[in-house]
Amino acid sequence: MMLVKQFRFIVVMAASACLIFLVSSCATSPEGRSQLRLLPEDQINSMGVQSFEQIKEQTPESKDANMRAYVQCIANAIIPQLDQDNDPTLWEVRVFADDQANAFALPGNKIGVYEGLLKYAVNQHQVAAVMGHELAHVIAQHGNERVSDQLAAQAGIAIAAIALGTSEASDSNKKLILAGLGLGVQYGVILPFSRTHESEADLIGLELMASSGFNPEESVKLWQNMSKAGGQTAEFLSTHPSSTTRIKDLNARMPAALETYSKAQARKRKPNCRL
Ligand SMILES: [Zn+2]
Repeated sequence: MMLVKQFRFIVVMAASACLIFLVSSCATSPEGRSQLRLLPEDQINSMGVQSFEQIKEQTPESKDANMRAYVQCIANAIIPQLDQDNDPTLWEVRVFADDQANAFALPGNKIGVYEGLLKYAVNQHQVAAVMGHELAHVIAQHGNERVSDQLAAQAGIAIAAIALGTSEASDSNKKLILAGLGLGVQYGVILPFSRTHESEADLIGLELMASSGFNPEESVKLWQNMSKAGGQTAEFLSTHPSSTTRIKDLNARMPAALETYSKAQARKRKPNCRL
């Protein structure tokens, strides 16, 4: 019951915020869902860039040149299919020397992949499935939405307005923004997105990988690999539960994704990234 009440509160606050901020804050996700986005894009982007710098300071880059080239090759195939910033040179792609099976993308054109992911994402298609999913969170501005919902729910519209008005976010706002981007107060801790955001990222990511010429059917295999490994070894799984719903939803969208895939192939989009 508490949850329902809380949800209603968020909806009411979001709706009032929408009335006040009108065009700037009420937006629609690529899947057609309406979203509250209170923070200016440049603020979200600069937080993404700052977070990425922090992670780079804390975690060394992979020394494996082949692995770095492999991940870059996959990113180079996907980025041109984005609607915005679709030049790979605008993006920073980094492989981190860390055993955790995880990856992330941040606003401000940043992609991070941990070496450990490649134990479970065993071919270019499966890595593209993870990258596509992570990029989808950025494309759909899930970070901004998460922060906006929290601002609206926790402190009301006054605070949201303050956040909008200040060029430099206060410390508490910064924490909120970091959490919204999926990063904990401690840098490098990746927080789970909501189920709505997860399924949206799955579907947008599926389309993105297919239009880049990667086989969308491999996304389901990736989840199965992760599942077999279990949540303890595959960190990605702990923030991305491999529910049967997830696989069912991917399969439901598969015919459309396969059509996109064959069109991409006809346009000679045939990435050949090997490790
Ligand atoms: Zn996700």
